[in-house]
Amino acid sequence: MCNATTVLVTGASRGIGRAIALRLAETNDVAVNYFRSADAAREVVREAEAKGATASAFRADVRDSDAVTSMVDDVVRTFDGLDAVVNNAGIVRPSRATEITDEQWQDVMETNLGGAFYTARAAIPHISPGGDVVNVSSIGGTGGTVDASYAASKAGLHGLTRSLARELGPDGVQVNAIAPGPVETDLNDDIVSYLEDIDFRGHENVDTHLPTYACDPEAIAHTVEYVLENDFVHGEIVNVNGGMQFR
Ligand code: NDP
Repeated sequence: MCNATTVLVTGASRGIGRAIALRLAETNDVAVNYFRSADAAREVVREAEAKGATASAFRADVRDSDAVTSMVDDVVRTFDGLDAVVNNAGIVRPSRATEITDEQWQDVMETNLGGAFYTARAAIPHISPGGDVVNVSSIGGTGGTVDASYAASKAGLHGLTRSLARELGPDGVQVNAIAPGPVETDLNDDIVSYLEDIDFRGHENVDTHLPTYACDPEAIAHTVEYVLENDFVHGEIVNVNGGMQFR
């Protein structure tokens, strides 16, 4: 994307989304989506404005397609357009497959996969040639995890990414996914606690080939910025996992 002006980042109140919004605020205007963390979202807006961006917070549950459509319309009205969307909002509800309830399954699928689809579907008609859709996926989307619902949602996101890339590429809209390994956020803390609870030993076979196991959210924000600024990356699942999984 060249000279982007307005980027909508879902789940931008905390963690990786917050880092993405603040990094992009250095050269773009940012629409900060949140659901439960209103105060945190307001703080992200304040920090983005301090970097010189025009920024605004938009509450929407990405599982709710009507709410998402209203949010996108609000963003377009507020900023007089929309150049790119970063589908970052996500949750984890770690459980063994046999213990995943229907409610957990639907919650994870609707947030991680449905939310990205609803947001992209609402945003695409507003995005002009040169714009972008970026989906924040996970290493689990290709390699699986000990959490079937999460991995399935992220694998679905890879299919969504590549399908949208085929569909929108001829219109000049780039579509990519970023697939992080562990990143230091609340979500990762939940995964680590779960793995400790079930006394998971699989990490003994994991080698990141780097001294660190998890990265800072800023590393993912940097990669999103790179994809947005590079006009020839398209249909990619960009892995940022410290070598945890070679592809
Ligand atoms: P956090 O738990 O730190 O933050 C999650 C964000 O998603 C919050 O801003 C939250 O908003 C938002 N969110 C959750 N549910 C909804 C919803 N229904 N509607 C709108 N927003 C929602 O998670 P991370 O920053 O770690 O995760 C961000 C993305 O990165 C996720 O897609 C995750 O799967 C992915 N990822 C994370 C990894 C990690 O190790 N941390 C590794 C690989 C991928 P609010 O609080 O306002 O409700």
